[in-house]
Amino acid sequence: MHQLDQILSEVASYFPNADLPLVRRAYQFAAQAHEGQTRKSGDPYVTHPLAVAQIIAELKLDVSSVCAGLLHDCVEDTSATIEQLSELFGKEVAFLVEGVTKLGKLPYSTREEQQAENFRKMLLAMARDIRVILVKLCDRLDNMRSLHHLPPEKQERIAAETMQIYAPLANRLGIQWVKVELEDLAFKYTYPGEYEQLALDVAKSRAERLEYIHTVEKLIHKEMTENGVPCDVMGRAKHLWSIYQKMKRTQRPFEEIHDAIGFRVITDSQMHCYQALGVAHQTWTPIPGRFKDYIALPKPNLYQSLHTAVIGPRGERIEIQIRTREMNLVAEHGIAAHWKYKEGKPVAPDTDKKFGWLRQLMESHKELRDPTEFLESVKIDLFGDEVYVFTPGGDVKALPKGSCPIDFAYSVHSSIGDHCSGARVNGMIVPLRYQLRNGDTVEIITNPNQKPNKDWLKLVKTAKARTKVRYLLRTEQRDKAVVLGTDLLDKALRKHGTTLQRAEKQLKHAATELRCVTVDELIIQVGYGKITTQQVLEKALPELAKAKEDLPAKTESMLKTLLRKVTSRRTSSSGIKVAGEEDILVRFAKCCSPLPGDPIVGFITRGRGVTVHRRDCDKGLDLDPERRIDVEWDGNSKTHHEVAIQVLCSDKPGLLAHISQSFTDQGVNINQAHCRATEDGRAVNTFHASVKDLDQLKSVIRSLSRIKGVFSVDRVSADVG
Ligand code: MN
Repeated sequence: MHQLDQILSEVASYFPNADLPLVRRAYQFAAQAHEGQTRKSGDPYVTHPLAVAQIIAELKLDVSSVCAGLLHDCVEDTSATIEQLSELFGKEVAFLVEGVTKLGKLPYSTREEQQAENFRKMLLAMARDIRVILVKLCDRLDNMRSLHHLPPEKQERIAAETMQIYAPLANRLGIQWVKVELEDLAFKYTYPGEYEQLALDVAKSRAERLEYIHTVEKLIHKEMTENGVPCDVMGRAKHLWSIYQKMKRTQRPFEEIHDAIGFRVITDSQMHCYQALGVAHQTWTPIPGRFKDYIALPKPNLYQSLHTAVIGPRGERIEIQIRTREMNLVAEHGIAAHWKYKEGKPVAPDTDKKFGWLRQLMESHKELRDPTEFLESVKIDLFGDEVYVFTPGGDVKALPKGSCPIDFAYSVHSSIGDHCSGARVNGMIVPLRYQLRNGDTVEIITNPNQKPNKDWLKLVKTAKARTKVRYLLRTEQRDKAVVLGTDLLDKALRKHGTTLQRAEKQLKHAATELRCVTVDELIIQVGYGKITTQQVLEKALPELAKAKEDLPAKTESMLKTLLRKVTSRRTSSSGIKVAGEEDILVRFAKCCSPLPGDPIVGFITRGRGVTVHRRDCDKGLDLDPERRIDVEWDGNSKTHHEVAIQVLCSDKPGLLAHISQSFTDQGVNINQAHCRATEDGRAVNTFHASVKDLDQLKSVIRSLSRIKGVFSVDRVSADVG
């Protein structure tokens, strides 16, 4: 059968009153217009629009869409005009072709902002007519299917664009089979090596899998029918890209991905769906936290189904989706499944109610002039972990989910971030901790006196904002250190009849001796407490070196008091040298629990000695730089240090024993353990253990990570319970 006839009979099957002659004419027009053109494969060009129209028919779209599929490349590649199409095939078809043509011209770029812009334009196109996007998706699918004819660099670009824009779009519109096929095709060209290996692995275990699928299908079917649920059961391997994602996420090889097969129970009524769920849970042990009721609470794209996971007949996890035939149609075809309702077919009252939301959306494009209003009403979050917000000028910024106005301010310009004092979102003043939402228009209020503060670090999500804030806080500390160092040194020098200015030459000498590049650097080091004024005096005024002087600096006097206090109660060495002195009372900060080997910094705490923090600890930024003091690890210490290690693993018996054995094998004692099972069948374990140093901790983490069933191992703050 000619492909056109296939398309015509397909359309007739779901829409008996369709204007088939119009489709035929559209084909003839396209064939004539593309006459003489060939595809990269050597086939006549018209095979492409035909293939696209075929996919559109598979999605059961209306006649205008099918015609638009046949004609979609005419305006772009031939002498045909939109006016001509409008005259011959009507305004609707011409409008769709124009939309698809414009969409095709969107420049693609890996740059985040450019992509957000593309995304916005797509939304605008959708707001005008969702069919433009659907036709474009079909066009893209056929292009992906014939991608092997193109040169490699084009393959790569088109595959990346597909993965980043078109597959998520298909997903949001609920057109599962298109999403799956696009992802696997894009996977093939983006990671050819990985794709080939995985395809090979899957093929190798094919016979075994088919046998397994068949057995389980029969078993589920038997249990269901015996319990009065009429149904079809289908099992099938998940698509390669999703298996690959799972392998990456869990860091497991293919052989260890057990739930690569999903089972689907299709029954006739909603009541039978819940009954089937009951049967499944009675027959096999359900895995807690895996049950989802999308029948009572449909997804925004109208997807409905019951999801659960159980321990299957072979002791393996199996995922089961339960739905009615109608729901299955929606699951596979998504938004496209409802198209026939716009075609004037009789609509059952309850389906009308159910799809009212969608119908409203479809029709609202006529009323919604404002695309942001549309964005707000649809709330389509194409890339789940990003939010798209607008500048007052209408530019789009893509930010990670959970971003606040400060992130936005820094994404516009560093100086705006640095002086950000408030924000207006959609015209209303919001606190800086406000979490941005899709479609927000954000206006930053700046104040030249505003400076970043430590609290901002808790709010910001973007790397850019974080880096800038930390940098500024550091600079501020440095400025304070300059003032303090200048003051300390000047006072010390005056006691010996000289000043900072007069002793410039001697200070230069001292700086070199104390390994500072410049005198300014020396002053900063004194301000930070890393070098004492006494050390400077000894180098700068050697004749005074032996003179016993009172330590003039505030830091030094504090240190001295401290020394007096603690020498009387010499305890075992803390393993820390404070400003070169041993046996100072030292405490390790709970917030970051430093280990020998970690870069560290000390802060003098009145009455409590010196508290040692890790150098990268945020808390350090809070503390008064005047109290900051140089500390270092004393290599010979044998003290043990408590650290907290969080292990995320699957919640299966025996694993905990395995984990604790791993600690013992590394010669590490566990002091405390907190274990908690999560709803999704995993366990979060926090161990407080005593380790010698960073090297030992690292080897514990390494050996824990190697245990089968362990997903992640992290050093965490010790006050985590
Ligand atoms: Mn095309």
